[in-house]
Amino acid sequence: MAENYSKDELFRLAKLHLAPNYEPYPVVVDWASGCRVWDVEGKEYLDMLSGYSALNLGHGHSRIVNALKYQSEKVSIAPRKFLSEELVLFSKELAEFCGMEMILPSNGGAEAVETAIKLARKWAYVKKGVPRGAAEIIVCRDNFHGRTTTIVSFSSEQQYINLFEPRTPGFIEVPFGDADALKKAITKNTAAFLFEPIQGEGGIVVPPKGYLRECREICRENNVLFIADEIQTGLGRTGKMFTCDYEDVKPDLYILGKALGGGALPVSAVVGSRELLRVFRSGDHGSTFGGNPLACHVAREALRVIREEKLAEKAFVMGRYLMRGLKKIKSPHIKEVRGKGLLIGIELKQNGPDAHEFCGRLIEAGILCSDTKKYVIRIAPPLIISKSEIDWALERIEKVLTTKKRA
Ligand SMILES: *Cc1c(COP(=O)(O)O)cnc(C)c1O
Repeated sequence: MAENYSKDELFRLAKLHLAPNYEPYPVVVDWASGCRVWDVEGKEYLDMLSGYSALNLGHGHSRIVNALKYQSEKVSIAPRKFLSEELVLFSKELAEFCGMEMILPSNGGAEAVETAIKLARKWAYVKKGVPRGAAEIIVCRDNFHGRTTTIVSFSSEQQYINLFEPRTPGFIEVPFGDADALKKAITKNTAAFLFEPIQGEGGIVVPPKGYLRECREICRENNVLFIADEIQTGLGRTGKMFTCDYEDVKPDLYILGKALGGGALPVSAVVGSRELLRVFRSGDHGSTFGGNPLACHVAREALRVIREEKLAEKAFVMGRYLMRGLKKIKSPHIKEVRGKGLLIGIELKQNGPDAHEFCGRLIEAGILCSDTKKYVIRIAPPLIISKSEIDWALERIEKVLTTKKRA
């Protein structure tokens, strides 16, 4: 329990001092462990949001906590002008984990997306021979790649870009799931195709079978970089290590983040071949905190935990179990349940309450979740969730989605 401040008082102070760029649900998180979260009033919740996939390993995983303690006592930050053993070994281990050769580390996910955009543009100029300033990157409608000014320039979400113009040029939008549209959009100036293998913020949208493989082929034929933003879908979330694995597709670049920090720190990276990453020369790009020894040590442990605890396999099995349970719910509000592994969206019919409203009711019932798009409830628990916890959740989700009025 918090010692000095009531929930009401904290909300009052937040209104005064915290910029209102989020509208919080009425929960003030106090502490958490595994799949459980407690608020300052002592109410217990089952976390079915996982910090948007940052918490694939659950809250406070003992191996991550130990890694944090160990390395923070040893050395946390070393300027990138000096190497650290942690940085070098993290690079080797993450590259090998991805079946790649080289990485460029950063902190938040959007930073890594920016890295990939810069890499694709420079590659287009120095390797592909695109005229300076003309490089184009093809993106998908309803994409989500982060919130920097360049990234929101190619967002389809009006609120993300409106009044934050001017837009950064050089991005072409195609519908998600339509390989022919990609083919038609490619010109001699196309540097890359940037996509999410399943659109997360776009409403948990799974593309048609064969889409990724077809796009991979189109990009290969046209000498266009195929860049998979697996920040949310990677590292086991959807039941494979990477969602691209479902179609045996290997991108030119993976963009990773979220769970890479083990649920403890922001860690992100772009991962690819030596040929591509060597497009960067000293001074081209950088970050004060990117690749710091503390982050690298924790991320190395996160990768080991993901592999040793077989979290991708767990997500596959538990995802199937949860999906089956959700599909059995007979509710007049549900339009569709979809997703892969433990990345699941419940799409609601538009004649009833929206997802924000239903998430409010689910939170009251003890389930932390969130809306994505106006009518989709996102269900994405830590990958360590147990069968009995899923049963507990299913009972409550069914009750909320089948009760006519708020109790
Ligand atoms: C969350 C997310 C990002 C942005 O990551 P941040 O750490 O919030 O900057 C980018 N791409 C995808 C697919 C994401 O889900």
